[in-house]
Amino acid sequence: MSAASFPKIELHVHLEGTVGATTLLEMAKRNAVRLPFDTATEMQALYDFRDFRDFVRVWILTTNVMRRAGDFTQVVEEYAARVASFGAVYIEACFSPVERVMRGLSWEEVFEGYCDGVAAASERYGIVVRLTPEAYRGVDPQLVGEMVRYAGRYRDRGVVGVGLGGDERACPAARYAAAFAAARELGLGVVPHAGEFPRFPDGSSGADSLRETLVALQPVRVRHGIAAADDPALLDLMRDRGIVLDVCPTSNLRTRAIASLAEHPLPKLLRAGIPCTVGTDDPAIFDTDLAREYELAVTLGADPRGLYEAGVRGALCDDGLKSRLLAIGESTPWPSHPSEPT
Ligand SMILES: [Zn+2]
Repeated sequence: MSAASFPKIELHVHLEGTVGATTLLEMAKRNAVRLPFDTATEMQALYDFRDFRDFVRVWILTTNVMRRAGDFTQVVEEYAARVASFGAVYIEACFSPVERVMRGLSWEEVFEGYCDGVAAASERYGIVVRLTPEAYRGVDPQLVGEMVRYAGRYRDRGVVGVGLGGDERACPAARYAAAFAAARELGLGVVPHAGEFPRFPDGSSGADSLRETLVALQPVRVRHGIAAADDPALLDLMRDRGIVLDVCPTSNLRTRAIASLAEHPLPKLLRAGIPCTVGTDDPAIFDTDLAREYELAVTLGADPRGLYEAGVRGALCDDGLKSRLLAIGESTPWPSHPSEPT
């Protein structure tokens, strides 16, 4: 059984970051937006960033072409079609409504568009997609509160949680504690990005940022979290709380969170007993895909079954769907893992 045919769960992918050059250019034309490239090759050159801030600049530039509900639906459908070919059975995807609303779209248009995509992904490709809208650090907490209220309204259309992304140094997570407490009250999972960088370029500690986020937002899962690997007290805290990490090796390399894949903290996290899933983060921007991230994780010592089971554990969907995902895992003829104790 090749890696491509294992059932897969992906809990860390930004829908806006899945859109390739062809679709981006098509949307730009349709919406009369100018992009600073005309071909896929030119786009990849633009994606050769220097650091995380450069990445954010490119992200803003390209995501700005998505302007209508139909654009968001198309993005979900196209990604579902792609991951179906990699054996994905469940995707929990982020999208960023706040930036779109700040540019004049209504919350309804953004949420309806993505939620229509959830329905289409299921009908056309048999892929279960669930959504976690996300705000970025630094934005007005009132807007995060509004996002949470809309997320609550769309729970029956596939929204299962809310996240926090962007530059961790922009502000402490505590600034949004009230909004995320309200999310928990609405039955939404809290899944922030934190601990993405073991050490930031300015020398500040990613572990401190992760610890602050864990305390302030009480998340059930953390996106990245690799900064915990060298902090035994933080690892203990995460194990006690049963926190699952969504790890994205290629993303960490491309944003220069790590210097090389050989230095990736995934093996340390696994040895410390932290359940880790694997995701692409922004596959079009980082020039990767789900099968490749699984292969990289296996190279780093993970086993496909462990990744899948961590995915089920970390998924924010309802218990009925979780049981179905578990049953898929149990009926899969997984290969024995070379590092398993005998
Ligand atoms: Zn991310």
